[in-house]
Amino acid sequence: MADRISLLPEHVANQIAAGEVIQRPASVVKELLENAVDAKADSIQLIIKDAGKTLIQVIDNGIGMSTTDIRMAFERHATSKIKAAEDLFNLNTKGFRGEALASIAAVAQIETHSRPEDEELAHLLKIEGSEVKEQTLTTNPKGTSIAVKNLFYNIPARRNFLKSNTVELRHIIDEFHRVALAHPEIAIAFFQNGDDLFNLQKASLRKRIVGIFGGKWDTFLVPVEEHTSLARLEGFVLKPSFSKKTRGQQFFFVNRRFIKSPFLHHAVLAAYEGLLQRDHHPGYILFLDVAPETLDINIHPNKTEIKFEDEQSLYAILRSAIKHSLGIFQVQPLIDFDNSTNLDVPYDYKDKTAVQPNLEIDASFNPFQEKGLQRDVKKSAQWEALFSHPETLESNPPVEGLDLEMPRTPKVFQLFSKYIVCALPSGLLLIDQSRAHQRVLYEQFLGVITKDRAASQQLLFPVAITLDTTQKAYFKEVEDILVHIGFQWNPIQNSLLEITAAPDLVSQDQVEKIIEEVLFFEHEGKKDANSSMADKLAKKMAKALAIKAGITLEIKAQQELIDNLFGCKETLVSPFNKRIFITLEKAEIEQKML
Ligand code: ADP
Ligand code: MG
Repeated sequence: MADRISLLPEHVANQIAAGEVIQRPASVVKELLENAVDAKADSIQLIIKDAGKTLIQVIDNGIGMSTTDIRMAFERHATSKIKAAEDLFNLNTKGFRGEALASIAAVAQIETHSRPEDEELAHLLKIEGSEVKEQTLTTNPKGTSIAVKNLFYNIPARRNFLKSNTVELRHIIDEFHRVALAHPEIAIAFFQNGDDLFNLQKASLRKRIVGIFGGKWDTFLVPVEEHTSLARLEGFVLKPSFSKKTRGQQFFFVNRRFIKSPFLHHAVLAAYEGLLQRDHHPGYILFLDVAPETLDINIHPNKTEIKFEDEQSLYAILRSAIKHSLGIFQVQPLIDFDNSTNLDVPYDYKDKTAVQPNLEIDASFNPFQEKGLQRDVKKSAQWEALFSHPETLESNPPVEGLDLEMPRTPKVFQLFSKYIVCALPSGLLLIDQSRAHQRVLYEQFLGVITKDRAASQQLLFPVAITLDTTQKAYFKEVEDILVHIGFQWNPIQNSLLEITAAPDLVSQDQVEKIIEEVLFFEHEGKKDANSSMADKLAKKMAKALAIKAGITLEIKAQQELIDNLFGCKETLVSPFNKRIFITLEKAEIEQKML
């Protein structure tokens, strides 16, 4: 038999390695920033274009590379950071695999300029798809600049797989945050399409945090510090009153390396026990330093996971140190009555009409009274159809004029402050109040956004919101839609956004929450990345404003909600694809009674 095995050509091997190390522009950003840190730079600039799809460039003032090193740097398994296997257990650098640059070079066009301090001229190296195109001498300040252009230019399938600029930018900002937080001793700036998103001077950790997330953070930071023979813990946790429903900012660094450890996260949560509102997440930026030989970071190619020798003790140290800090700073359990009425009871129709004279709600209107209004008939017909053909609800409301046998006032009541139970001649309807309201609001917002009918009301008092740099960047992307929906604001000054008008559907006291919700954008899941910006915004606003479980509703509000729900185009599932109601037919009930 002929020999069948041969070594892969180097560029193919590199492409395969790239698949593991470089998933998206943010991966390149991470690798280049970490290399700059490892090169002992104290000033770093990150420049990107089109969310990194066209250009990612990192300029540092670190130790630079000699003419041989610059060539070697792009070879696989070429690293200056470890020489022998033992070094793996005593690691003080971010990198050590010597794989990143080779991987990037396999899937992009790279231009590197580098000059060590003790050399006069700099070296320029151009590589495309692992192939060296040019190597010459040039001039460059001390340090290194690596420009990565047209990522995945030679792998169209992967390039097409990249998400929208918003999503990719978000990932890049995440990586930037991690490096900037881990190294407040390094001045670091970030330019995107010519705008400076961040320009952070060397600073204390507290100042760095505030520089990244905004001035409002200053008052919420609670310092944590604990030194034991096993570990040093430093950093900040956020006051429980600053906790969010969204998993906000949670950063754990072990030996200055960002890691994700569900175990350590749990230790932090344990320290907050009893201090958080339900479904709220604490924020933290914590640095744990342990002897390098007591941990194993070689278990994951992206190195955000880690294994400790003595996890149990670390858990205990964390929990007690944080608990102690929260105690010292006299953090009280949060019972903010003001907040809970304003934020969690948006579905208070009485107040709503009082604050919003524009809102088209006829308080005397009772959908359950026979009025001969066509609209009512249709809705009622839809109701009844629930029990015969639920599938027809979505697009084909049953014909008018059916003999409906609708009771004059169907009986409704609330169950567990979460469901609305409605008695119909043919059975019971059990409606999830929050999901139903999300659906109603979602369709209203979507209608306003897409049908160009921005009904807006001037606010009595402008609502001022401080934006952090990330939010400012995102605000630019959504501002057109926000205008379209009916928001208006004064020109942003010093990160202060003053909202002067809001959509009809949003009342004065909901404005801040809504804007925060909209500007806090998380990694979108695959499904979501495909939906339009308008759709996403409508979902966010619906989610933020919808009445929650645990809220008591007056009978009238219950009836109105049901009525509105069945006026929707889609009634079966919430905007997040959750079932809105279930039915219990008479026959089923009788069956159970046998
Ligand atoms: P690793 O960081 O794991 O060693 P990389 O592929 O990221 O592997 O980099 C390869 C080598 O190139 C590094 O070990 C380092 O010697 C050199 N290098 C990369 N970036 C820089 C930089 N910005 N300044 C100086 N040297 C660098
Ligand atoms: Mg590296």
